[in-house]
Amino acid sequence: MIRYQISRSKLEEAIEEEKPGWLEEARRKTEAFRQAGEFNEPDGENSWGDIKAVYMRLQKNKCIYCERKLESEQYGKIEHDVEHYRPKNPVKAWPSKKMKRVYDFPTGNASAKGYYLLSYNQLNYATACKTCNTPLKLNYFPIAGSRINDSDDFERLKRESPYLIYPVGDLDENPENLITFEGVLPVPKMKRGHRHRRARVTIDFFALDIREELLKMRARIILSVWLAYKSLNNQSADAEDRDTAQSIINIALSPESDHTNCARSFHNLCQQDIQRAREYAEQARRILPTE
Ligand SMILES: [Zn+2]
Repeated sequence: MIRYQISRSKLEEAIEEEKPGWLEEARRKTEAFRQAGEFNEPDGENSWGDIKAVYMRLQKNKCIYCERKLESEQYGKIEHDVEHYRPKNPVKAWPSKKMKRVYDFPTGNASAKGYYLLSYNQLNYATACKTCNTPLKLNYFPIAGSRINDSDDFERLKRESPYLIYPVGDLDENPENLITFEGVLPVPKMKRGHRHRRARVTIDFFALDIREELLKMRARIILSVWLAYKSLNNQSADAEDRDTAQSIINIALSPESDHTNCARSFHNLCQQDIQRAREYAEQARRILPTE
């Protein structure tokens, strides 16, 4: 997970350009929900899909949570879901009993009301892959504080102390300050405290450390960065090979690539602890099928 930086005014400009009048309509709908005290729009009338491409472009066609690269706009809209960070519908308690997961800290109660004032708020959106959005995200929204589902004031909403991270713009902390990678595995960057728990819950919530294809994709990236790093530091490599190696690293560290946080964490490690990096590269190789 990485941050996708954009100012509020630039995001609004991009939305207005994508679908003129959408923001005005969203404000009108939000006022109607405020009067009604609930989100009561029939399914067929939802219009957040009209601005899906704005988030796909901002996120470089990656899932906001698992950093998988999906297809781009021309063919890919079907693969991306508009994700409501805070659920518009009634909120379920997470973890559910069925998950058999126990934490020694509170994760928030269920709520009969969703965050109805945020159903049409552009700062409550991102695009996610179908796996992350359904079945993992559903209508869960674990928090450390008390639920505030009758507000669209983001300063006030911070008091909920959400566990899941919101990587669009600067409303929330940069995910890379909370989650780093040890080889293919995401881990909390902090040793303790709420920021540690945010990372732990986000990783558990989206199963970021156990989804097989995520691990394999990260393993491929680690191996390519490892080879490139070694070539770049090999004095006997020719100029062309070193150029190619530098390009491979630049691409892997760019937000355009999938699993950027993993690539950046591994590349940092190469510079700080080459022996540990070698061990992670060997682990990555063992994860991948050999034929
Ligand atoms: Zn995903």
